Amino acid sequence: SEVATMMNVPVTKIISTCMSLGMMVTMNQRLDAETLTIVAEEFDYEVEFVTADIEESVQEEVDAPEDLEARAPIVTVMGHVDHGKTSLLDYVRKENVIAGESGGITQHIGAYAVQLEDGQKISFLDTPGHEAFTAMRARGAQVTDLAIIVIAADDDIMPQTKEAISHAQAAGVPIIFAINKIDRPVSNPEKIKEGLAGMNLLVEDWGGKIQSQDISAKTGQGVPELLEKVLLEAELLELKANPNKKANGTVVEAYLDKGRGYISTILVQGGTLKIGDYVLAGQHSGKIKAMQDERGNNVKEAGPSTPVSILGLDGAPQAGDKFNVFEDEREAKDIANKRTQLQREQSVRTQRHITLDEIGRRIALGDFKELNIILKGDVDGSVEALTDSFQKLSTEEIQVNIIHKGVGAITESDVLLASASDAIIIGFNVRPMGNARQIADKEEIDIRMYSIIYAAINDLKDAMEGMLSPEI
Ligand code: GDP
Repeated sequence: SEVATMMNVPVTKIISTCMSLGMMVTMNQRLDAETLTIVAEEFDYEVEFVTADIEESVQEEVDAPEDLEARAPIVTVMGHVDHGKTSLLDYVRKENVIAGESGGITQHIGAYAVQLEDGQKISFLDTPGHEAFTAMRARGAQVTDLAIIVIAADDDIMPQTKEAISHAQAAGVPIIFAINKIDRPVSNPEKIKEGLAGMNLLVEDWGGKIQSQDISAKTGQGVPELLEKVLLEAELLELKANPNKKANGTVVEAYLDKGRGYISTILVQGGTLKIGDYVLAGQHSGKIKAMQDERGNNVKEAGPSTPVSILGLDGAPQAGDKFNVFEDEREAKDIANKRTQLQREQSVRTQRHITLDEIGRRIALGDFKELNIILKGDVDGSVEALTDSFQKLSTEEIQVNIIHKGVGAITESDVLLASASDAIIIGFNVRPMGNARQIADKEEIDIRMYSIIYAAINDLKDAMEGMLSPEI
């Protein structure tokens, strides 16, 4: 009805136009951008989208190539539980000694930077696991440059190993495998590499392109070589940032310290952050009173790829919130207030994700080229059979991607991945577990459950052809 008023046409005409596009709409329904464009065209109007959102004012400028300088890689460690993620992070943390400094890193601030003997630096996110990684991604934060996936050589490639691989791949982040626990006589790194090869992940020893390193997070054997490989891989990525501008980056963690107030660990991604800067992070703002590195040292400024904990924000932003520096405190405060207000008004302001019902229409509109699916099943056989059949449904217009598949219930981590990668989840003889259903409802992720293989295939086929009758 709002659109009808703006174009000065009867609302029934808008409704019938939508019907001709295959959409049953009511007067008060909100239309998405594509539909609006088409409807407006019908009445010889052109739609210009302006953002009602305040995000426009915090857009970052594009840097000129000559302003860019090399920056350190930012690494996340992932892998199956008990395969040694924490041990690896701890080993690197303890053993690293920056020239002129005694002792390792004692504080946990959510991220730390290490300097190798040759002076090169690597920053690690200190929250291991793909859940944290994907949760940040679902909030729109892309922080990690490289993923180390730890696999214990005294065990197998486990479900969470596969999850970690899928999560890294879905994010387009290069993987380096750390085959761990080689100090244990029962360990068999070759068996792990063979298993990876079986998954079409050929490591270098096996003639492939993916780097891997045998390590012991306990004794440290192979860890220096692993870090060298991280730097090598990083070099290929040509990571760069402009250090000479106002800083921006991402919040890694934040909490309230009883004595000192709100402390947030942030990762600077561009520019240089300085004491006294006015910072806006998510819904909070403030002037930076103090900054500390992971060693508890006070620092005056922090450049690209540097993690620091900052003091001075008026609250605790969420992990994955972006931060920016503003010229004056008023502006930062205003935006923070507007964001809080917006969130209150639109408490269900979640990003809209694709649903099975919508696929056909989106394909017809021509803006939808890839359908991402997460597939979980009760047995390997059905998962493989469905994967095959789903992939065969790909057409010239649309590519079906199984971004993750596995045996077992639908987990929170599956839902997060779906949210971060705009995927639908298909469960075969399995159900959502724990909080997965709640999170899916909140994030508006479409979960479909089937117990008959052809029913699943037919539904997807119908959906892609725009023939699926809406789920009641
Ligand atoms: P996470 O769950 O992946 O973080 O795994 P942890 O780092 O907590 O390690 C799980 C267990 O494996 C702990 O008891 C570690 O001491 C042990 N562990 C980790 N790395 C090694 C290793 O290289 N060699 C041996 N022998 N044990 C290890």
